[in-house]
Amino acid sequence: MPSTRLANLIDGRLQAPVDNRWLDIHEPATGVVFAHCPDSTAADVDAAVKSAQKAAPGWASMPSEERARLINRLADLVEARLEEFAALESRDSGKPVALARRLDIPRAVSNLRFFAAAIIAWDSESHAMESGAINYTLRRPLGVVGCISPWNLPLYLFTWKIAPALASGNTVVAKPSEITPCTAALLGELSIEAGFPPGVLNIVQGRGPTTGQAIVEHPAIKAVSFTGSTRTGASIAATAAPQFKKVSLELGGKNPAIVFADADLSDQNLDTIVRSGFANQGEICLCGSRLLVQRSIYDSFRERYLARVKALRVGDPEEASSDLGALVSREHFDKVMGCIAQARDEGGQILIGGHALSPTGRCAEGWFIAPTVIDGLPNETATNQQEIFGPVVTLIPFEDEADAVAIANGTGYGLAASLWTTDLSRAHRMGAQLDFGIVWINCWLLRDLRTPFGGTKQSGVGREGGAEALRFFTEPRNICIRY
Ligand code: NAD
Repeated sequence: MPSTRLANLIDGRLQAPVDNRWLDIHEPATGVVFAHCPDSTAADVDAAVKSAQKAAPGWASMPSEERARLINRLADLVEARLEEFAALESRDSGKPVALARRLDIPRAVSNLRFFAAAIIAWDSESHAMESGAINYTLRRPLGVVGCISPWNLPLYLFTWKIAPALASGNTVVAKPSEITPCTAALLGELSIEAGFPPGVLNIVQGRGPTTGQAIVEHPAIKAVSFTGSTRTGASIAATAAPQFKKVSLELGGKNPAIVFADADLSDQNLDTIVRSGFANQGEICLCGSRLLVQRSIYDSFRERYLARVKALRVGDPEEASSDLGALVSREHFDKVMGCIAQARDEGGQILIGGHALSPTGRCAEGWFIAPTVIDGLPNETATNQQEIFGPVVTLIPFEDEADAVAIANGTGYGLAASLWTTDLSRAHRMGAQLDFGIVWINCWLLRDLRTPFGGTKQSGVGREGGAEALRFFTEPRNICIRY
């Protein structure tokens, strides 16, 4: 089945892995294998790094306008094939095609365009000294960098990394998740059409512990930008530290959505609160999986919330009517089902869902789970401490502001919080007290690509987005001239 075999992109050419070994790629909605992905080894990574090293001086010295032009051309090519990308992303990940069409692929295009524009507008600092000297900062690309991304927002997060890395003049060895490799492979093909010089963008497909590890270990890779689980992030940090590599780690979360009695609970806001728990089957690192509700409105809120969750339609991701699709893999499906069983063992009351679903027709064997809402578990339980990363939300009552802050901050993670209140002073106060990299007030997943993006505690190290990403991918040098 040569047509279903994805290729690596190394040195500007589509290539099979050196060992000619392949991984099965499943369609989560059906459980059927529909493609094969290179199971690359350290030899493939080394070939990519060598090509990237060769391309680095030319790419770094190319005027930023020219780099931006190529990145914009790639964005145009992706946009022109938006439908194809959306269908492929949906097939590969199980997410509704409507979501891929509305969110994933347009955002990938925006990521490319945003950093193409940002690099042209980027300036550097200068500091004059009264004693008769002036300092300025030269920001140089690092050389060859590694970008490793997860399966939940495949092309969205892949481009979020490679766009700033390329724009700031680095050459790249990138690896998407081996669970969802398809759209990155197609992007690689389009990068040839866009006219990127060979070796500037290399995409090496394969498993984390082999291909990913080889990227992180390679001595010529100067920095690693990683998004994925906290456990993998810790392993990458341990590998990179003795080589003094720069790392940017965007990791897991256990995010609170906090609803105060004074919140404007319009239908639109309630829909956003529901979406914040269940969008993309809850497989978004920013999803609010702990829903904290002030006790005085707990019962009435719960009733309205559950009615809305009940109305969510789970089904074939290809159907426009499906709000939720399938979970990404059999393994992840088993993990989430295990978390639901653990919640039961801990004494949680399943208010809705809590079981697998088997849609009729072509999706009968797919990995679907009903949206699940659990009540009655204290914040200290494993269910409320561990990232589940599925369509599972727990409800937790709180008394007042101090209680809400204590519960919200009472996890090892610190990625994102959302807060629903009409009290302006409270919003500002809590914005400062919540120990999270992002605090959304009366909204969720509203993203401005210029803002710092990342988490505290076990949610990661460093920030992506805007100038933060460009700083990460460059080395500043202070030049001091006496006059
Ligand atoms: P994962 O850690 O299993 O894998 C992520 C990537 O790392 C994959 O490409 C994988 O092949 C690779 N990898 C695995 N082991 C490696 C190793 N030893 N060395 C190098 N690379 C390795 O994560 P996942 O299951 O794909 O993604 C889900 C996780 O990602 C969740 O925890 C979620 O919260 C997190 N996430 C975080 C953000 C964020 O911005 N903070 C965004 C999306 C997802």
